[in-house]
Amino acid sequence: MEKEKEINLQEAIKNTIEENLKKEEIQENKETKEIQETQSSNNIKNNNQNSNSSQKNAHQIQKNSKKPVQKKVDPKNFVWFKDLNKAFDENEKIHKSRLSCFNKIDTNTKGWVRFTPLGGLDEIGGNCAVLETENSAIIIDCGMSFPNEDMHGVDILIPDFSYLREIRHKIKGLIITHGHEDHIGAVPYLFKEMQFPIYGTSLPLAMIENKFKEHKIHQYKSYFRSVKKRTPIQIGDFKVEWIHMTHSIIDSSSLAIQTPIGTIIHTGDFKIDHTPIDGYPPDLHRLAYYGEKGVLALFSDSTNSYKPGVTPSESVVGKTFEDLFMKTKGRVIMSTFSSNIHRVYQAIATGIKFGRKVCIIGRSMEQNLNVAMDLGYIKLPKDIFIDPYEIGKYQDEEILIITTGSQGESMSALYRMAIDEHRHVKIKEGDQIIISAKAIPGNEPTVSQLINFLMKKGAKVAYHDFSEIHVSGHASQEEQKLMLRLVKPKYFFPVHGEFNHLMKHRETAISTGMKEENIFVMEDGEQWEITPKRVRKVKNVKVGKIYIDNQINEQIENDVVIDRQKLANEGIIMVVAQVDKQNKKLIGRPRVTTFGIIADKEDKAFAKEMEELLINYIDHAKDYVYEKNRIFENELRNVIRKHVFRKTKKYPTIVPMVYFM
Ligand SMILES: [Zn+2]
Ligand SMILES: [Zn+2]
Repeated sequence: MEKEKEINLQEAIKNTIEENLKKEEIQENKETKEIQETQSSNNIKNNNQNSNSSQKNAHQIQKNSKKPVQKKVDPKNFVWFKDLNKAFDENEKIHKSRLSCFNKIDTNTKGWVRFTPLGGLDEIGGNCAVLETENSAIIIDCGMSFPNEDMHGVDILIPDFSYLREIRHKIKGLIITHGHEDHIGAVPYLFKEMQFPIYGTSLPLAMIENKFKEHKIHQYKSYFRSVKKRTPIQIGDFKVEWIHMTHSIIDSSSLAIQTPIGTIIHTGDFKIDHTPIDGYPPDLHRLAYYGEKGVLALFSDSTNSYKPGVTPSESVVGKTFEDLFMKTKGRVIMSTFSSNIHRVYQAIATGIKFGRKVCIIGRSMEQNLNVAMDLGYIKLPKDIFIDPYEIGKYQDEEILIITTGSQGESMSALYRMAIDEHRHVKIKEGDQIIISAKAIPGNEPTVSQLINFLMKKGAKVAYHDFSEIHVSGHASQEEQKLMLRLVKPKYFFPVHGEFNHLMKHRETAISTGMKEENIFVMEDGEQWEITPKRVRKVKNVKVGKIYIDNQINEQIENDVVIDRQKLANEGIIMVVAQVDKQNKKLIGRPRVTTFGIIADKEDKAFAKEMEELLINYIDHAKDYVYEKNRIFENELRNVIRKHVFRKTKKYPTIVPMVYFM
């Protein structure tokens, strides 16, 4: 039945088309006569490449004029059609040329630039890269990252600066895109070793200044060079312009870097927010301007390359805050990243609207807010703020607390409030907690634990059950496409993300018409040479991570961390023995103590077993072991190692101490 219907329908369509064609033919034959007359009188010169076929058509027209209403005239012969056809061809050319503005770059220009990522690829954080010519180099960002769980006692990681030491003589400056820790966190460590001008906009520099103070290297703020957006400045062989961008921190920038061989655009971290809190959307016009002039290479943020669509505007979070504040009778406690000043601002503005006083708890939160207010990025009346000790003076419904700890960090204010260890605030029933953040990969368990603690205290917790309680600061696929379309680069390098993020971004770029062979997925330490004609990997430089203890702001050597890992994973055995060297025999019994190997209740028997083993070994020991302490100790270590491995399949750290008497 279905098929029959379909056939009937097709038949009907065919008949209608044929009827229409007949009508058109009659009409066109009328027109043909007119055209022929016009053609002969105007004597149109036919420069069309289809001149042969046109002649054939003209012949047909003549034949047709003898026998009207017999054959359809080819419309390609009409003037109006030729006009349209010509315009179509011209527009095709215009499309092609506007999409390949990079062809304006002179491919005969000699020279090269090299780009070397020292961190930030195949990892989250630690962004740092070098762009260099033969004579000069600039560093783009210098960030930190977080350690894995097995890096005991390590608070942060910074990039290995070996390559920077190597090219120290030609470094002309450090270029900062924005003030996030993964872009500025390692600057003090770099500056303790080497100094050069630091270029950036006001907020990132002020945030670096805070770090310099902490590290007691405040004098280096003399290296600050604050820049104006839309104003390229010469740094070595490069002319660098900061282009305003939206992100999850105020005052972020993309970079337009004019090099001797062509322009490079580095997006920095970005999203495209058309309704940002401060009313300053990204400077798309500037990107378009460079795109139009011709861009050699684009380096673009890949963090959210798996997210389809568009990242929502920061302003949507304000609406969620309002809904939550409206429903809450008790205290509101909002936690977010301390650097997300617009988020904090939105919470404060909502608090003011609902008649709440604002208490900021957490050093970094306070510091960032103060810097932003002092520099004029946000304006708030001073009298709405109260100190933590004043909270008790107000009713619960008059209180808004803004605090750190959205990642469940055990040292943070929110965590301490949740476990009753905060001096001024303890979580209680009726509190509305808002966690306006997403767990950074790896932090999910700690965030979940924090929420458990908060809920056990009777608080309500709003986390990612609301889609718009937090929005990302990074571009989703459609924004990544917009960036590619605005910049229209010849070469594309996805950056800022793990390898799979970069590969996904590559796919998105291909969908916008980027040629596969012009996209390069890099890894840290690879040096890529770019010329107007080609891109190639030239070498690998040393990269890696340096472990930092944040309590003392100093490096922890690798072997210390390896020892700690071994102790944590395998445990430790102490062996103490007194030996009568002359008579070659033991004095008393050896003592064995173990930690982290066996349960306490079995420990005694296990230790005794090893002690017996040692007694037996020493009774039969050869003379040479008595020559030196070290030899004796080594022998005991071997005896214990073999035994412990047989029993536990572990290689603990064994510490023998032998006293010759
Ligand atoms: Zn960022
Ligand atoms: Zn970043």
